[in-house]
Amino acid sequence: MSLPQYDYDLITIGGGSGGVRASRLAAQTGAKVAVIEESRVGGTCVLRGCVPKKLLVYAGHFGDDFEDAAGYGWDVPKPGFDWPKLIAAKDKELDRLNSVYLRILEENKVEVIDGRAVITGEHSIEVAGKSLSAKNILVAVGGWPSTPDVPGIEHVISSNEALDLKQLPKRIVIVGAGYIAVEFAGIFDSLGVDVTLVLRADTILRGFDDDIRMCLAAEMTKRGITLKTESVIRSIEQQGDQYSLRLAGGEIIETDLVMYATGRTPNTAGLGLEEVGVEVNKKGAIVVDAYSGSAVDSIWAVGDVTDRANLTPVAIAEGVAFVETVFKDNPSAVDHSNIPTAVFSSPPIGTVGLTEQQAREQYGDIDVYVSRFKPMKYTLSGRDEQTFMKLIVDADSDVVIGCHMMGLDAPEIIQGLGIALKCGATKAQFDATIGIHPSAAEEFVTMREKRPDHQVPSI
Ligand code: FAD
Ligand code: NDP
Repeated sequence: MSLPQYDYDLITIGGGSGGVRASRLAAQTGAKVAVIEESRVGGTCVLRGCVPKKLLVYAGHFGDDFEDAAGYGWDVPKPGFDWPKLIAAKDKELDRLNSVYLRILEENKVEVIDGRAVITGEHSIEVAGKSLSAKNILVAVGGWPSTPDVPGIEHVISSNEALDLKQLPKRIVIVGAGYIAVEFAGIFDSLGVDVTLVLRADTILRGFDDDIRMCLAAEMTKRGITLKTESVIRSIEQQGDQYSLRLAGGEIIETDLVMYATGRTPNTAGLGLEEVGVEVNKKGAIVVDAYSGSAVDSIWAVGDVTDRANLTPVAIAEGVAFVETVFKDNPSAVDHSNIPTAVFSSPPIGTVGLTEQQAREQYGDIDVYVSRFKPMKYTLSGRDEQTFMKLIVDADSDVVIGCHMMGLDAPEIIQGLGIALKCGATKAQFDATIGIHPSAAEEFVTMREKRPDHQVPSI
């Protein structure tokens, strides 16, 4: 009997969303698999991202619910809120999830190796002073918050620390206007913190549909979040237990805590990739083909480290496709078009397909349908918050090419419409669908009036 050529059929570096799914599925084919994790299995989504963030979003919603209840006849005494209690409960849940992930790996006979991996050859890895070899190496190391080079940047926190604060500040400045900045602005605001968002653009969420961006910026302002647009921070100075931020125009902002949410960088520094011939782009992301293969035949990459669409379900889908390709002889590529996505802001956003601007560029002749209304829940409570919905249709084929929503339950509603777009549904098919009444979602199948060209809904 000949000895195996390698220690493992697959070594996965990174036990996050993509790495865990790929390792488990590969092991289920009978492959010998190890996953190397330098922190805790579960990765960003479970331990520092989607899950703890969403738990804090829920925590904030209760504040609104207590207020809204009064309009429905409830006599609600002023509720108290205990941040350390919330953080302890959240940490307990993360520990539970971490052990679920470890158990899943164990049950599937995936070996978990603790430590930081470095690639030393096309088939070899070093971890904790040991050298290991594998027929295939899957890099699923994710990303890490990145901050610009500003004097005083050592004083700031990122989303990692924001999820673990010992106590809530009275005031916070959040720099950035992407997913994380907007979501954490909503969380802190809903928990009673005075929030200022400092952004370099003229509004939040570059890349999203302009009407949605405008509507959410208006709602955030209504809630009391200050949006300091077209502003750049030149320096951050600590003065006792507060911070003084100097803006490019000379204005000074004082605050108790500064959080930067200015994007994330792939975790590829010092990983040994370029030394073995793996191509890495300017941002540090691994360049891969449609099958997640790198420039080296035995090295593959999935998830945030490839900077395709940095979302958990995408990392998982890429992990699944990798296993189909490499271990099941079924070459599979993930379709990165029409990925539904949500921003868990207050109120939230759900979106799938093209923005109006992208649709005009790609299709030319489009029809736009919009609807703006106060959700029924707020009629009795009196909350001054709108819902906004938008459908974008290719005028030639009648196919719906974009669905966007800001308002209560938007992420839950848009997930279903993601299926419709994936199936190439036409506006006529939307119209032929019976609504669920009374719901907000029914608006998506009852919008009949095309928006006159270039007319933007008034806010
Ligand atoms: P990760 O989950 O980041 O896992 C990578 C793992 O590799 C980590 O555990 C890391 O410790 C390990 N590692 C790194 N280098 C090494 C090394 N050299 N050796 C060994 N181990 C190593 N996405 C959504 O879809 N919905 C959301 O609501 C959402 N919210 C988010 C909120 C926040 C605050 C953040 C930061 C992200 C959020 N995301 C969300 C994005 C989502 O978390 C990521 O897209 C997803 O986790 C990517 O999975 P991954 O497998 O590529 O990497
Ligand atoms: P994003 O890329 O979404 O946003 C980065 C923000 O930082 C942008 O507003 C950008 O401005 C700004 N920025 C970048 N560099 C600077 C700078 N030097 N000075 C000032 N502002 C700057 O990154 P996030 O960190 O918010 O999130 C990372 C990724 O994680 C997201 O893109 C998403 O893929 C994922 N994520 C998903 C979530 C979800 O699904 N709900 C939630 C959280 C994260 P500008 O627009 O001007 O470039």
